[in-house]
Amino acid sequence: MTMRQGNGLGQTGGANLLPVLTKQPDHPCFQCAKCCKYMSVEIDAPRTMRDYDHIVWYLYHDKVSVFVDWESDWFVLFQSPCEHLNAQGMCGVYEKRPAICKDFDWRECENHMTPEDGPADKWLFESAEDFMAWLKKQRPKAHQRFMRFLRRRHESGEEPELKRISAKRVRARRSARPAPA
Ligand code: SF4
Ligand code: SF4
Repeated sequence: MTMRQGNGLGQTGGANLLPVLTKQPDHPCFQCAKCCKYMSVEIDAPRTMRDYDHIVWYLYHDKVSVFVDWESDWFVLFQSPCEHLNAQGMCGVYEKRPAICKDFDWRECENHMTPEDGPADKWLFESAEDFMAWLKKQRPKAHQRFMRFLRRRHESGEEPELKRISAKRVRARRSARPAPA
């Protein structure tokens, strides 16, 4: 659960009570709990052809997006609800919730942004097409190199690489098997 940054709402101090516990009807978070329905993981900013290839691969997956915050940090975002969010939209492990949940301040949430705060993310890619369009516009030379990289990969055929990967997987599975009695 990494909330997007750069919303301009600033640090407020005080208690960081997650609204999923309090659920007061007059609270701005009432009936929301969106922050418990996804999580994001920071990744290295893409620089190489392999990095670009990985971003495309992430974005080929359902309910996965990639965003860049206002500090130019890159994240993969998974739309996947926490298993401890109960049917009432409350945290089922509130007292034992992870530190990242405890540290989160709802007042920094993008849902409380106004149009004056600007967009929540510097860039948001919800599909591989979004990302490729961005690459073409923002990094035209890298885009050309990436297209050449993909063409070369297709022309040379990917069979040898795939064979190498499967051999590695087979070895990993074999080594994970218990020793025969
Ligand atoms: S902090 Fe934001 S996402 Fe979380 S419940 Fe409140 S308004 Fe919703
Ligand atoms: S542990 Fe609780 S507060 Fe943290 S994401 Fe899950 S439901 Fe939300």
